[in-house]
Amino acid sequence: MPKKARRAITRSTSRTAAAQRRPSKSSAVLKALREDIVAANRILAHYGVLDAYGHVSARHPDNPEHFLISRSRAPELVTAADLMVLDKECNPVEGDARQPYLERFIHGEIYRTRPDVAAIVHSHAPAVIPFAASSVALRPIYHMAAFLGRGVPVFDIRNRFGPTDLLVRNHDHGRALAESLGESDVALMRGHGYVAVAPGVPLAVFRAIYTQLNALLQQQAIALGGSVTYLVPEEAVLAIPTHASTIMRPWELWKRKIGSGK
Ligand code: MN
Repeated sequence: MPKKARRAITRSTSRTAAAQRRPSKSSAVLKALREDIVAANRILAHYGVLDAYGHVSARHPDNPEHFLISRSRAPELVTAADLMVLDKECNPVEGDARQPYLERFIHGEIYRTRPDVAAIVHSHAPAVIPFAASSVALRPIYHMAAFLGRGVPVFDIRNRFGPTDLLVRNHDHGRALAESLGESDVALMRGHGYVAVAPGVPLAVFRAIYTQLNALLQQQAIALGGSVTYLVPEEAVLAIPTHASTIMRPWELWKRKIGSGK
């Protein structure tokens, strides 16, 4: 074989090998999403929204019927290696034998009923619990929690299923929670916690954090003893778009706080 032809073959082979080594666009998106889910777990633990319990998930970018979520592990400890892919029945794919979260049905049933939702946080953050137990509704007290102005339904599992251990343990429980959530961004769970949903991981983290902060501030305002003025729906509508358009600012900061991101 002439030397020139041999060189051309070698070049073409090494180009193919390089292309194979280079991750496809979709695997780059998946890798970034996996990093975001890990960061979300650690950020929410850092800010006291998650402790040993609670979880974060994201819809799979290549298959909208699947979602990514950690194996059953405390959020602060979650790494990329802990992430599992669950199918629409909330079963692990590809024979993954690790223990998934008991309450994965929260995620599966909300993804099924809300095509606009791509990320979900489930939390037991203490400041929010009183509003799930009280006749006082959680309402937006400042612009950072304007998304609460879309309504904050309270899901009471006992109304549908009678006395239980309060956990969302199956598809029926998850479906009932998703029905309560409706088109809202947050639903409280009586005697348990709440869910925050969003079109992406950073915004879901934002909503989970500011739901807890609004609950704290609202309790303080009520404790002052006077009348409390909340955002009116028109103010909420005007304030909401700014959260999405500026989300990378807190996201960058939060990642730095947990030692992630450059
Ligand atoms: Mn729970």
